Amino acid sequence: MEIGRIDLHTHSTCSDGVLSPAELVAAAAGAEVLALTDHDTMRGCAAARAAAEAAGIRFLAGMEISTRHGDHDVHLLGLFLREPDLGEFAAQRAEARHERFWAMVERLDALGLVLDRDDLSQRIAGASPGRPHLARALIAAGHVADEHEAFGKYLGRGRPAHRSQRMPTTVDAIQQVARWGGVSSVAHPALDELGPILGELADAGLDAVEVYHGGHSAEQTAALAAQVQQLGLLSTGGSDFHGPAQGRPPGRSTLPRADWDALAQRLEARGDEHAA
Ligand code: AMP
Ligand code: ZN
Ligand code: FE
Ligand code: FE
Repeated sequence: MEIGRIDLHTHSTCSDGVLSPAELVAAAAGAEVLALTDHDTMRGCAAARAAAEAAGIRFLAGMEISTRHGDHDVHLLGLFLREPDLGEFAAQRAEARHERFWAMVERLDALGLVLDRDDLSQRIAGASPGRPHLARALIAAGHVADEHEAFGKYLGRGRPAHRSQRMPTTVDAIQQVARWGGVSSVAHPALDELGPILGELADAGLDAVEVYHGGHSAEQTAALAAQVQQLGLLSTGGSDFHGPAQGRPPGRSTLPRADWDALAQRLEARGDEHAA
């Protein structure tokens, strides 16, 4: 099974990554295909595309959309998206994320963990705000040792500073991605224990599943690959790179070339010029 240097899941400073889009592309040197999939924004895609094209890397504009399906949080990747006109959708996601970010800051206040507002504003300037920004502020203020502790004690779902954000249903987001001419893929399903709902989402028009993810074990990957084949879905793969500290560089993973070819064929069948 030939593995390409094809990475369809990465983050930049335009959401909760620590490298700028151009720095991300530099870190992915040698990749064949790279997608930028920041949380709920495509703001970094133009700069990443310019840097990737200069470096001879095929670039895909993407986005990782936070969605809800019943009791499940589902991260939905939209790949091969037209950029940058996401209209109302992006504006609504940005508003929901800012609202929830500052609501969580107030929860931290109530816990006696008061964070400096100017510092926080700087941390999220130009970015789609997320919990990692809060985790890093908590570390800088000396309240926790690392992001793992920040999520475990305060920021994770069910922890005292957690607040939900308004978000679209997974099915609505799948349909939205299709209207944008993109391919939808459920991100890191094994980490979120989403195996049981993949069938329902396939029935609702889901295109693909992120079978290959740096956080999936070999057993999880094999089980997902079998499930995806049975459901007639495509496979995607990526590093989910957020920064060098993760120890998984971008642009070096993971997707079998046959799966990449199947994705490319799906787009050709739709006659999508922009995907070429
Ligand atoms: P948000 O988009 O604000 O809901 O935050 C989700 C992001 O937080 C994920 O994309 C990860 O980057 C990060 N994250 C989630 N859970 C953890 C965890 N337990 N430890 C460290 N980072 C996490
Ligand atoms: Zn993230
Ligand atoms: Fe995710
Ligand atoms: Fe991600």
